[in-house]
Amino acid sequence: MSANAPSTTAGSSGYAEFHRRSIEDRDAFWTEQAQMVEWQQPFTTVCNYSNPPFARWFEGGLINLCHNAVDRHLKDRADQNALIFVSTETNEEKTYTFAQLHTEVQRMAAVLQSMGVVKGDRVLIYMPMIPEAAFAMLACVRIGAIHSVVFGGFASVSLASRIEDASPKVVVSADAGSRGGKVVPYKPLLDEALRLSSHKPERVLMVDRGLAPMPLTEGRDADYATEAARQNGVVVPCVWVESTHPSYTLYTSGTTGKPKGVQRDTGGYTVALAASMKHIFQGEAGQTYFSTSDIGWVVGHSYIVYGPLIAGMATIMYEGLPIRPDAGIWWELVERYNVSVMFSAPTAVRVLKKYDSSFITGRNLGSLKALYLAGEPLDEPTAQWISGVLGRPIIDNYWQTETGWPILTVCNGVEAAPSKFGSPGKAVYGYNVKLLDDATGAELTEPNQKGVLAIEGPLPPGCMQTVWQDDARFVNTYWKSVPGRMVYSTFDWGIRDEEGYYFILGRTDDVINVAGHRLGTREIEESISSHPNVAEVAVVGVADQLKGQVAMAFAVPRDASLLTSEADRLKMEGEIMKRVDEQLGAVARPARVRFVSVLPKTRSGKLLRRAIQAVCEGRDPGDLTTMDDPAALRQIQDLLAG
Ligand code: ATP
Ligand code: MG
Repeated sequence: MSANAPSTTAGSSGYAEFHRRSIEDRDAFWTEQAQMVEWQQPFTTVCNYSNPPFARWFEGGLINLCHNAVDRHLKDRADQNALIFVSTETNEEKTYTFAQLHTEVQRMAAVLQSMGVVKGDRVLIYMPMIPEAAFAMLACVRIGAIHSVVFGGFASVSLASRIEDASPKVVVSADAGSRGGKVVPYKPLLDEALRLSSHKPERVLMVDRGLAPMPLTEGRDADYATEAARQNGVVVPCVWVESTHPSYTLYTSGTTGKPKGVQRDTGGYTVALAASMKHIFQGEAGQTYFSTSDIGWVVGHSYIVYGPLIAGMATIMYEGLPIRPDAGIWWELVERYNVSVMFSAPTAVRVLKKYDSSFITGRNLGSLKALYLAGEPLDEPTAQWISGVLGRPIIDNYWQTETGWPILTVCNGVEAAPSKFGSPGKAVYGYNVKLLDDATGAELTEPNQKGVLAIEGPLPPGCMQTVWQDDARFVNTYWKSVPGRMVYSTFDWGIRDEEGYYFILGRTDDVINVAGHRLGTREIEESISSHPNVAEVAVVGVADQLKGQVAMAFAVPRDASLLTSEADRLKMEGEIMKRVDEQLGAVARPARVRFVSVLPKTRSGKLLRRAIQAVCEGRDPGDLTTMDDPAALRQIQDLLAG
């Protein structure tokens, strides 16, 4: 492991003390952080943890998320950019100042109110990456309604199950999304989902982009432009809500099974985001933030919409692919809008890695301070590549939909610290991170021991309150009691070095057992991706009569033209096996390395190992509603059959 940022003395007292205070002097620490946001009425209890594992943050306080993201900035920066919308799908580009955003959000809020939406009602948002999606989110929290954003790439079955679970009064949608220049009509998918769902929302609000037919159902559906015109200039004051009032629900990515409905509070979330913008992202008011995620995911909630706006930054909302019109588009935006903080995912960087690096180096990226990456393991070759090309700190951060903001990273806003390749960093303030022995549940206190990454309760502000409408599922899924305390399991394996840096070794269900040796699929993948012609790889454990399990690898070559014959493929397979032998030992050597053009992933870009494994073992791959490209799994099926 080598450092990719200039180092101050690692582990020196600044950050260590900051973290220690956040745990040992919790209430004082978070009282200070809570000053970063505006309260209509101050809280009386910092953290009510009288009913573990349920934590109630900033009880007694009244707050509004939209006020903190929008209204609050009108005083100092009404005419500065708040939302920058860029679509390379429709070739639109539009900016909204804080004052304009304020107007748009009130318009949307007035329309929702005219449809009967009041505090506590759910509003489901099924939309492409257009400004109205952000208006709808902000409008909901403005009036105390609970939004539930469903990723626009989902089709009717996934959408129906989420409509069922969230039971919204109103659904906000649009005529269509667009992907790679191809229009994806939403209305037929939505209508089908509404037919499938036993819950029927009262009203459906449709934004017409003029991309696809949008037949309206009389009495239920309404056209947004028509409704908005009726509400022109209507003032909708913020509804002050209790700190513990839910701001939204959001489903996990469904990588390991059926998605879980995460419920988030309002006050804790506002404080957590404000603090993270300062201590982690070092974002400053007036600067521009660019997160390449989608509003359908947690990164989109926290770091496209709420976090940057709370910090008084302009945020870029980008609809389109990273490689269209060419692989330089993101960097063109960084240059044009002087982006200072950028947030993306390793999967996107691996896509860019297949293209010429001059798409990045050819731009003036002087404004950019750092690139943050999250969502999946950042393998060393990918980190090295982007770090070399960009010449900026690459900051890995590890978290979950459940937590809403980073659990592990380097908090350069507190104290500049080096990153280590392969590690997202140290425990973030507020998180009392533990490694637990898988078998006994005992805490592992020595460095370099491998255990399940866990967080001792209470979870810090901003994390999930419960599973929507299912407290029992929240407790039973995530929490374990150890004498005297409760711990939250992340279901990820980790290891901590002498300096307190954690390394994520994969998910607890990604461990394979070869002839009694327990191996993380991630380690094997890491070794395989060091082969120069491997762009991406998935390793799964497959049942084997002799060894219990064997590793099977599916790799995407960087240059497929080098693998046109069976002899080429066998040669590269041999090279890869030799590498694994040398780096990890023969026990980790995959039984086979097969080559595919694409790997099965969730819509959020995470590898669906469980589906690959099921197919390899001839089982039913299970819930595939979150899968991106069904052809990817078929390719593997065909390879195995052939
Ligand atoms: P589900 O919980 O429904 O199976 P999911 O876990 O993929 O889906 P998310 O909440 O989107 O849903 O993803 C969180 C998970 O992503 C983490 O638990 C971890 O496995 C992985 N992850 C996120 N960031 C990182 C990172 N920086 N390094 C390694 N793994 C990461
Ligand atoms: Mg998960």
